[in-house]
Amino acid sequence: MIIFGLEGTAWNLSAALVDENGVIYEKSATYVPAKGGIHPREASQHHADHMAKVVGDVLAKAREQSLKIDAIAFSQGPGLGPCLRTVATAARVLSLRFGVPLVGVNHCVAHIEVGKWQSGAKDPAIIYVSGANSQVLALRRGRYRIFGETLDISIGNAIDKFARSVGLPHPGGPKVEALARDAKHYIPLPYTVKGMDLSFSGLSTAATEAAKKYDLADVCYSLQETAFAMLVEVTERAMAHAEKKEAMLVGGVGANKRLGEMLNTMCLERGAKFFLPPKKFMGDNGSMIAYTGLIMLKSGTTTSLEESKVRPGYRTDDVVVSWASS
Ligand code: AMP
Ligand code: MG
Repeated sequence: MIIFGLEGTAWNLSAALVDENGVIYEKSATYVPAKGGIHPREASQHHADHMAKVVGDVLAKAREQSLKIDAIAFSQGPGLGPCLRTVATAARVLSLRFGVPLVGVNHCVAHIEVGKWQSGAKDPAIIYVSGANSQVLALRRGRYRIFGETLDISIGNAIDKFARSVGLPHPGGPKVEALARDAKHYIPLPYTVKGMDLSFSGLSTAATEAAKKYDLADVCYSLQETAFAMLVEVTERAMAHAEKKEAMLVGGVGANKRLGEMLNTMCLERGAKFFLPPKKFMGDNGSMIAYTGLIMLKSGTTTSLEESKVRPGYRTDDVVVSWASS
């Protein structure tokens, strides 16, 4: 079975072909804001401008290798409305053109599924941290249940906002990580865990304030240590409660080495195993949509044209996970 997948919920327009054995081909076009953060309308215009080239390249590859596409999977949500509509429109056209089913994929579930596929985790507690989402989840009775999540902005957004406030270009995550390596002191910053939920907005603002007084490297380091410790705390409690012996980190912020290191330490201390998918599957990519479409199709799930409306607020736990058991 060969699935064509299309991602474009935010900054990355990406199309891919996958089968059970792996990624056959992937092509992406990345939107980089001229200044500030992601502007939804500009991002969707970027995706529209690059759609023909990105999709065309992947279809050319399929033709070259005489591959028959079995379904068109697309990111149905959550994400930025204008971006989602651009992607869904292209996906519908492809489905009609090739006469194959559409599969509407939940973007968060796709991060999880590609992570399991690529890291070998079987039934982990999941730390899903990206530019828009921060959730700690685990599969229970057929859904990825959200044990804890951010009450305001995502951790990626918190770091990116702080980075912009000190003059670092978007996305700030990798730059903050690099600067943090030269730190000498920890500066106390607000640590906010409420029950199982997290809050990053006040932390981001406090870091911006601290940067007016303290060394930037120290502030970057302190921001990371504080935010990541909050995530580790909630993850450990979710593992204890859901009785999971594995943890897996996914999403763009998962590229951060220090976060992986802290989660790994926590897992070692409780006799659990930590899983980290390869970096290229961490940020948004077409392969994760294609792969999730593949396992959904195999379990008998397709999406009719009527059901293919975009879902900007699509929740991870709205999805019935018919293809995995726990
Ligand atoms: P996603 O939305 O999953 O594509 O992830 C994008 C987010 O990942 C942005 O907020 C980036 O700043 C963040 N990010 C990427 N690399 C790193 C890193 N090394 N450390 C922290 N955040 C990162
Ligand atoms: Mg994402």
